Amino acid sequence: MTDTNQYRKLLGKVELVGNLECLTGLHVGASKETMEIGALDSPVVRDPLTQCPYIPGSSLKGKLRALLEKADPNLIPNRPGGSGTRRHECDDWEPKEGKRGVPGALHCPVCRLFGSTGPGEGNKNYPARLKVRDLHLQNKEELEKIDTGLYLTEWKFENGIDRITSAANPRNIERVPRGARFSFSMVYDVEDTTTMSEDLENLGLAIRLLHDDSLGGHGSRGYGQVRLEFRCLEAKRIDHYRGEGEALRKIEPGELDSKTIEELKGFFSSENRG
Ligand SMILES: [Zn+2]
Repeated sequence: MTDTNQYRKLLGKVELVGNLECLTGLHVGASKETMEIGALDSPVVRDPLTQCPYIPGSSLKGKLRALLEKADPNLIPNRPGGSGTRRHECDDWEPKEGKRGVPGALHCPVCRLFGSTGPGEGNKNYPARLKVRDLHLQNKEELEKIDTGLYLTEWKFENGIDRITSAANPRNIERVPRGARFSFSMVYDVEDTTTMSEDLENLGLAIRLLHDDSLGGHGSRGYGQVRLEFRCLEAKRIDHYRGEGEALRKIEPGELDSKTIEELKGFFSSENRG
């Protein structure tokens, strides 16, 4: 591949908005450092202005990334991922010689969509094509009616038992309750139409995998079953931002299916681009 690939040009943007619904309690944790003594062992993140729980965009983005990475048999987990785990992240835009399974961010289904940081001086960062905004609570009034002693959330008491000594280790975890709804917005930068199709198919795949996985903490114990539903998709070519072209707007596309992706491809490759 030539260097010209590294000059990233913007053809336009695709915004996907919709709702994320919690089908089971959800725990996206906040740092305990800001909590008072005697408070919950494990609080959820809250918006400091409204005190509403929210889901940081990075939590959703990180989960989608991890699922897509696991689904690709060819990617090597080449970096330490904390707690003894390993994860995949390309070191550069182009593949490094002799590094199989690390294809370079331009050719990597995970890093092209979610970004990568090149360690060391000779390597280059590849900023993500996808932005995932923070997810804000939609049905606050509904949750205000629940009587749990916590604002908009619930306590979940759990008891760990030491298998050797039988000592109990009770803990309480704060959860956003089942039925909570958050709005999401993701913006995808279109840089070329071929890889756009692949990227959006991969995003759809990651979302379908998430539906049978979990978001946030304690997933193996039933937390964090969520469902994402698209309400609207809006595509804008670069001429639209110059005040020249119409945006393509689809209401209730349901999910990111191949028909929608094909339509987007036509929209971004059509001639009337100024
Ligand atoms: Zn990669």
